[in-house]
Amino acid sequence: MKSFSASDLARKRVLKLKPYQSARDEFSDTTSTMTFMDANENPLGNPELYRYPDPHHTTLREKLSEVKNVDPSQILLGNGSDELLDLIFRVFCEPETDDVIITPPTYGMYEVLANINAVSVKVIVMDDDFQPKVEEILQQQSKTTKLLFLCSPNNPTGTIISEENMVRLLNAFSGIVVLDEAYIDFSTTESWIHRLHEFPNLIVTQTFSKAWGLAGIRLGVCYASTEIISLLQKIKPPYNVNSLTQQKGLVALTNKNRVESYKASIIKERKELLKQLLQLNFVEKIVPSETNFLLVKVEDAKKRYSQLIDNGIVVRYRGNQPLCENGLRITVGTSEENKKLIETLQKLDR
Ligand SMILES: *Cc1c(COP(=O)(O)O)cnc(C)c1O
Repeated sequence: MKSFSASDLARKRVLKLKPYQSARDEFSDTTSTMTFMDANENPLGNPELYRYPDPHHTTLREKLSEVKNVDPSQILLGNGSDELLDLIFRVFCEPETDDVIITPPTYGMYEVLANINAVSVKVIVMDDDFQPKVEEILQQQSKTTKLLFLCSPNNPTGTIISEENMVRLLNAFSGIVVLDEAYIDFSTTESWIHRLHEFPNLIVTQTFSKAWGLAGIRLGVCYASTEIISLLQKIKPPYNVNSLTQQKGLVALTNKNRVESYKASIIKERKELLKQLLQLNFVEKIVPSETNFLLVKVEDAKKRYSQLIDNGIVVRYRGNQPLCENGLRITVGTSEENKKLIETLQKLDR
């Protein structure tokens, strides 16, 4: 293994930064019998909520550590994984200087966050099997290329990046590989969080928004080396995950069997939906999915999209993305919702 130090890639400004010390940093044990008169909280407020939340999310991280079998020092929580992706940009990418690589068709936030952070984007479209073009990525990287964004299972295709391609990229890419595993709990493949010790340049992000069914609480998770986690920790807003979210996250992790049952139901529904969709004349192709959605290629996607809207059903038009011509991304719903979709499409198919 070549020697690697994440600090060598980080912005000098971040390395030099003296982080904000919150009241709870200076004195963190709120379960002690001390009288806390240090944070200007109002003790007349709601007894469960008048205190600031734990800035280090200690209880929640320890529970996650237990469930995911990753050391707590390798875990950072955020206000959705979108916040974590933004922190990654701000630790590693110098505005107006550095660049990142994205591999469309993929999640749109990577490019938006790059734009917000004044970081330029090298676009290397995937091959026809929705695999990253490894040679081209390695050729296009330069000293200013800090991040490579990969998404597996990928949004909007539902596909997995092969293990071989992942390993080649992790070994040869000179920057940080950010692997977005928002849909990993639906997949038949293993998460890469169990291989962090092999790849010090790997960051994996996950979320409670999809398989866990908790998009509303905004809870994202980032797994990486302790070195990378410490850098991200340095710049995160002190109270980025609120008390209600930390409570709900903890409850969800305590009932983790629920996710297994969600997964089984959604996959069963997805298979049924796939079968029904394939019988429609205007459906040309459906990409095999490891997620809770299907990328469906149809004849005249724009027309089908508006017809569905007219019938009270909203799907996502993805036809503007490379390799997704005439593509609609359809989220697997409840069996009633799926039935309504199929009946509507059958009516339109005549
Ligand atoms: C939905 C989604 C996210 C968003 O995650 P949040 O935790 O809700 O911010 C991230 N990445 C991908 C690929 C997604 O589809």
